[in-house]
Amino acid sequence: MFVVDGNGLEEDYPECRDFRRCMINPEVIEESEETNVKDEGCLSIPGIYESVKRPDWIVIRYRDENYVEHEEKITGFAARMTLHEYDHLDGKMFIDRVSPLRKQLMKSKLGAILKGKVSCSYKVK
Ligand SMILES: [Zn+2]
Repeated sequence: MFVVDGNGLEEDYPECRDFRRCMINPEVIEESEETNVKDEGCLSIPGIYESVKRPDWIVIRYRDENYVEHEEKITGFAARMTLHEYDHLDGKMFIDRVSPLRKQLMKSKLGAILKGKVSCSYKVK
């Protein structure tokens, strides 16, 4: 399961208004062929942002915090946030979706994070 919260992003991404979900056993059952590319970051790897291609929309089936089943079409940045968290359930991070060259270029930064040599505004250790 994961939680996703788009509150605070609605000024740039209107689709994130009131987008706060707890998704238990989520399953993406459809995704658009149309894609878009935007920078992503992750609290788990502070200071790294990379362009990631994602579908424009998805349809996802999940159970909420009350274990009620939903099937919902999610668009735009809300879909991106959902897919980012969905990837984590499979042990994937957004950096697994960038080119091998880009990944090679960030290798030293990732190594520093691995050693705890990173500064960010939230607790990481
Ligand atoms: Zn993440």
